[in-house]
Amino acid sequence: MSSTSVPLSMPTVPRLRRTPADVAATLPVAGTKKVLLAAPRGYCAGVDRAVIAVEKALEHYGAPVYVRKQIVHNRHVVETLEDRGAVFVDETDQVPEGALVVFSAHGVSPAVVRSAEERGLRTIDATCPLVTKVHREAVRFAKDDYEILLIGHVGHEEVEGTYGEAPANTQIVNSPEEADRIEVRDPDKLIWLSQTTLSVDETMETVRRLRERFPNLQDPPSDDICYATSNRQAAIKKIAPQSDLVIVVGSANSSNSVRLMEVALEYGAKAAHRVDFANEVDESWFEGVETIGLTSGASVPEVLVQDVLRLAAEYGYGTVEEVVTAEEDILFSLPKELRATLKEHGDGSRGLGGRGQRPQS
Ligand code: SF4
Repeated sequence: MSSTSVPLSMPTVPRLRRTPADVAATLPVAGTKKVLLAAPRGYCAGVDRAVIAVEKALEHYGAPVYVRKQIVHNRHVVETLEDRGAVFVDETDQVPEGALVVFSAHGVSPAVVRSAEERGLRTIDATCPLVTKVHREAVRFAKDDYEILLIGHVGHEEVEGTYGEAPANTQIVNSPEEADRIEVRDPDKLIWLSQTTLSVDETMETVRRLRERFPNLQDPPSDDICYATSNRQAAIKKIAPQSDLVIVVGSANSSNSVRLMEVALEYGAKAAHRVDFANEVDESWFEGVETIGLTSGASVPEVLVQDVLRLAAEYGYGTVEEVVTAEEDILFSLPKELRATLKEHGDGSRGLGGRGQRPQS
């Protein structure tokens, strides 16, 4: 697979309590130990684009560049951009009037855009185009007076943004269980939409339960769960049944990373853990483990996966087999506000952001 890299600093792999050799001696015989490395994994096109947008804004406008919420849900990315002069804020009212603010890949509601305008902020909208697509669906179906059942996690920024497009017409369905309880105003004028980073299986279960109660429920015009989420889940489903331990690299607030861990367990992994960095791997996880499955969420730079691979090798898991279930080659143009500036400055070097991958048929 084509791995991606961004010019972010290299984290280090700190020492654990015992030496790797001590621990390796207690592990299964060398030669049977291996890592199954999922592909696709890591950065998707929308995340890559958002990170490049902040990097380019810093380069062309200088620090500080304000970013509403975490640009993507990854600690390493956020901390690295902070070191370069990005300032992450919760709301636009924390941004000085007239300053530059970048909206994150998860999208914003119209109320946030209005608030930024009222404060005279200059904005760069790094919302992933696949999130924007869901926003447009919400606007269109609300205009036709449909009630929208938005399947997603309450409190997640993406759900807040999509909900904000049509609050009077939208109800959030947080789980399959909620599908059994929700009341609607007209069961014949109903459509479901979803957050882009959910578990495919759980979402389909929620839809099944909704349709049992509301047979005329309409489907979205195209899948809302994005290609990156689906592909990463498909890859871990293949690896999980052969894995004694699955490690998912990704942050706790990264929806798609947490889903990968859940999917791994559901598909037969004996254990699954999520880590931000290699130094969070607990050596006790390796006890009795022959095969480690390894993947990473859509907001995770490849360097963090390589750190875990290096650590695993120190414990005797030096054999790495990449399991490829899809090739991706999706590219998204950088945000339009930035494209104009890049053109003005003759910067055509990275006019495109995003090096994700397209599913195989
Ligand atoms: S996970 Fe999907 S929706 Fe989210 S930024 Fe990546 S491609 Fe876009």
